Amino acid sequence: MLNFTVGPVMSSEEVRKVGAEQVPYFRTTEFSDLMLENEERMLKFAKAPTGSRALFMTNSSTGSMEAVVMNCFTDADKVLIVNGGTFGARFAQLCQIHDVPGQEIVLRHGQKLSAEMLEPYEGKGFTGLLVNVDETSTGVLYDTEMLGRFCRRNHLFYVCDCVSSFLADPFDMAHCGADVMITGSQKVLACPPGISMILLSPEAVERVSDAHVRSLYFNLADALKNMERGQTPFTPAVGILRQINVRLREIEAAGGAEAEISRVAGQAMDFRKKIGDLPFKFVSESPANGVTPLHPVHGDAYEIFVELKNHYDIWVCPNGGDMKNTVFRVGHMGNLTHEDNTTLIHAFRALQSRGML
Ligand SMILES: *Cc1c(COP(=O)(O)O)cnc(C)c1O
Repeated sequence: MLNFTVGPVMSSEEVRKVGAEQVPYFRTTEFSDLMLENEERMLKFAKAPTGSRALFMTNSSTGSMEAVVMNCFTDADKVLIVNGGTFGARFAQLCQIHDVPGQEIVLRHGQKLSAEMLEPYEGKGFTGLLVNVDETSTGVLYDTEMLGRFCRRNHLFYVCDCVSSFLADPFDMAHCGADVMITGSQKVLACPPGISMILLSPEAVERVSDAHVRSLYFNLADALKNMERGQTPFTPAVGILRQINVRLREIEAAGGAEAEISRVAGQAMDFRKKIGDLPFKFVSESPANGVTPLHPVHGDAYEIFVELKNHYDIWVCPNGGDMKNTVFRVGHMGNLTHEDNTTLIHAFRALQSRGML
């Protein structure tokens, strides 16, 4: 199997080896030490400001998006939501469910967000901004520095969903001034799904600690208190946290966040170059490194996904909703090589010769 989806992605051999081991009991100093090491590496790789904290949530990243909405905002807020696709729409839905007043900046699929487009929202009494840094459904990368300046000028609490951009695109949490960064285990971290991280700046730690949340599982103040000693309130996905530990060490040994980011960027560049004259159109005006969404000029996007899966054992990533038949995505995260790109290109050529492209 060759997996070019956007998660779960291909894991390294070391990570898979840990997955085959027995899962140990976790209320131990050994596991606490592992958790604190994971926290330190996460904060370092995200360039989080001094005094930041990392939480390891046993849920998919949508659970962390929900926890952040519940713990960081109330009905007294008025948030701006960048909505350029499926994940932006999810933030909007979560704010609605939890009675957080919000306004969406709705973008065309693939559209870039410019500084001028934010001008109408200056000085309008907004209190927060939520953005999916790589809107993974369209592969658009938003400018976290530009958004950070907007948030600073307007005193907004700034939430970055970096689920698919963390370690794929440059991100400096301290410099862009993000208060919250969310990511997950199954994207560039290339581990099994099940763990999602929430990084909190010192201001966010304060806000979360004072929040009144009507939830037991999504009480981040409780999670913060437990994490002081490297623990979680409830049984976490212990096995995956051990795999994450191995993976973070691997990244560190290979040169840290910068090296992984340029590796993913190189993988994306190689693929986009090799596409050449194949009948695809790029979707994103501001392409993120983690994924390349493609619009087949002739064929049906979903049929191409099914054909590659069933007859070539290659998985690309189908899109959902109204993009199901027009767009599919090729991921560049995880344990993939330039030769793997070539294998996929050969499969595309085979489909083309059979009239499917
Ligand atoms: C994958 C992804 C999510 C959600 O992840 P789940 O683990 O499926 O909940 C959220 N935001 C972005 C930008 C993503 O790419």
